Amino acid sequence: MNPLRITIIGAGISGLAAANRLLELSQEKNIPLDLNILEAGKKAGGTLSTIEKDGFLMEEGPDCFITDKPAALNLVKRLEMEWQLMRTNSDLKQSFILKGNKLYPIPEGFYLLAPSRLMPLMTTPLLSIWGKLRAAFEPFIKVRRDPQDESVGAFVKRRLGKEVFENLAQPLIGGVYNADPDDLSLNAAMPRFKEMEVKYGSLLKAMAARRLNTQSQVSGARYSLFVTLQKGMQTLTDALVCKIPSQSLRLQTSVTNLKQNEDKTWNVETTSQPYQADAVILAIQPAKMRTLIGHLDTEWKKLLSGIPAHDSATLNLGFRRSDIGHALDGFGFVVPAKEKKLILGCTFSSQKFYGRAPHDFVLLRAFLGAETTALLKTEGEEMVIQKVIAELTPILNLKGSPIVHHLAVYNSAMSYFPPGHLSQCSRLEDKASEQKGLYLAGNGLKGVGIPDCVAAGETAAEKIFKDFNSRPSA
Ligand SMILES: Cc1cc2nc3c(=O)[nH]c(=O)nc-3n(C[C@H](O)[C@H](O)[C@H](O)COP(=O)(O)OP(=O)(O)OC[C@H]3O[C@@H](n4cnc5c(N)ncnc54)[C@H](O)[C@@H]3O)c2cc1C
Repeated sequence: MNPLRITIIGAGISGLAAANRLLELSQEKNIPLDLNILEAGKKAGGTLSTIEKDGFLMEEGPDCFITDKPAALNLVKRLEMEWQLMRTNSDLKQSFILKGNKLYPIPEGFYLLAPSRLMPLMTTPLLSIWGKLRAAFEPFIKVRRDPQDESVGAFVKRRLGKEVFENLAQPLIGGVYNADPDDLSLNAAMPRFKEMEVKYGSLLKAMAARRLNTQSQVSGARYSLFVTLQKGMQTLTDALVCKIPSQSLRLQTSVTNLKQNEDKTWNVETTSQPYQADAVILAIQPAKMRTLIGHLDTEWKKLLSGIPAHDSATLNLGFRRSDIGHALDGFGFVVPAKEKKLILGCTFSSQKFYGRAPHDFVLLRAFLGAETTALLKTEGEEMVIQKVIAELTPILNLKGSPIVHHLAVYNSAMSYFPPGHLSQCSRLEDKASEQKGLYLAGNGLKGVGIPDCVAAGETAAEKIFKDFNSRPSA
C-alpha cells in the first residue's frame, strides 16, 4: 500500500495535536503515512513557549489550560504526562480588579460575566448602589429567545446592567479573549450563558443552581479548573515533537501557496522545496489561510477575512519579594478598559503556580494588547517596558526595579469571533469538506483555548482517516 501523503501547515499546538493523532491512527489501522509538518518558525510549539532565565520559569504565551473541555487533558494523559500536571495554588482563592490604582477582589462566585452569589455582589466597592440594584433586578429581565447571535457586551448589559459590564465582565472577558466584548459573539465564545438564560430565565438563578450542583458532586479524581505543567506549557509541545519522526518536521519552512492538481492532490509551495500531498491540514490563523487558499475562489477569501485576530504581548518581570509592597494575595488582576492603561491584566505567576521564581523572588506577568504592540513600533521596547513598570508601581507599591524582564510579542495570534461567527464557521467547514483533501484546524474556528486547538487538530486528523479509509489502494 502506498503511504498516505499528508502535509500539516503550522507546528503550533493545533498542528502538533493533528500530527500526533495521525500517527496514533496510522498505527491503530496499520496504514502507512508520509507525513510532513511545515513550520515557518525556528522552533515548533507556536504560541506555547516557556523560557528559563536567572532561575525564573517564564511563559511567553499561555500559562495554563482549562480542564472542563477534555481534549487537552486527554492528550496529556495519552502522552503519559499526567504526573507533571500542576493545579493553581490552593492556598489562594481570589483575583482582583483594578479601580483607580487600587485592587479590589472579584466578588466571590462571579464567573466571567455572571454572579452565582448575590451577597458578594451587593457588598463590592466595584459597583455603585444603582449598579447593584440593577444587577439584583436581573431575574425580572425578559428572556430573549431570538436565536440570532448577539455580542457578549450586549448580553451582559441587557441582563445585568452597564456597571456590571464595565467594572466586572469587560475586564474579565478582555483578559481572557483579548477582545472587546461588544464585538465578541455570545453564541461562539460563551454559549453556556445564553443556554442559562433560556433554561432558567435568569443568570442569577442558573449560576446559583450550578453552584449547588457542583458542591453536591461526589469527588473522584478531580482537577482544579485550570492546570499547567510543572516545567511549563512548552513541555506539552516538546513531548508532541518527540513523538514525531524527526524527518517529518521541517522548521524554517514557510508555505507560500497551495494549488490543487488535476487529480485532486495538492502541491504545497514553500520557501524551500515543494511538497506533494493527498491531504493538507491548515493549522494556522484564518488570515494566514486566506493568503494560501484565498485564490481558490472568492467565497474562501470572504469567509476567511471575516475571522480577525488581535496582536498581543506579555511582559514577564522578576522582582525581589522585598521590592513589592502589595501582599500579592491572589492570582493577579485585570484592568477595565475605562482605566485607560496599557496593561490588560497582570498575573502573579509565582503565586499562581509553584516553581516559577527562586525563593524570596516573585515573577509577575503583564498581559498587553494591540495598543502596546502599536506603541512598540513607534517608541521601542525599552520605553514601553518603562511605561508598563510605571503603571504597575502605584498598583503594587513597587519599591525597586525588576532584576529580570522578558517581552514576547504575538502578531495576529489570537483569533476572536465577531457576532455571527458560528454560521460563518459552519459554512467554512462545509466548504472545506467540498474541497477534496483540504482540512482546517487552528484557533480561528471553534475556540482559542488550548483544549479547542487540540480538539480542532485531532478532529482534522480523524476526518482524513475517515475520508481516505475507503480509497482504493494503489
Ligand atoms: C499571549 C497569549 C496568551 C494565551 N494564554 C492562553 C492560556 O493561558 N490558556 C489557553 O488555553 N490559551 C491561551 N492562549 C491561546 C492559545 O495559546 C492559542 O490559541 C493556541 O496556542 C494557538 O495554537 P495554534 O497551533 O492554533 O496556533 P499557533 O500557536 O499560532 O501556531 C501556528 C504556527 O503556524 C506557523 N505558521 C504560520 N503561517 C505559516 C506558513 N505559511 N507556513 C508554515 N508555518 C506557518 C506559525 O509560525 C506558528 O508556529 C493565549 C494566546 C496568547 C497569544
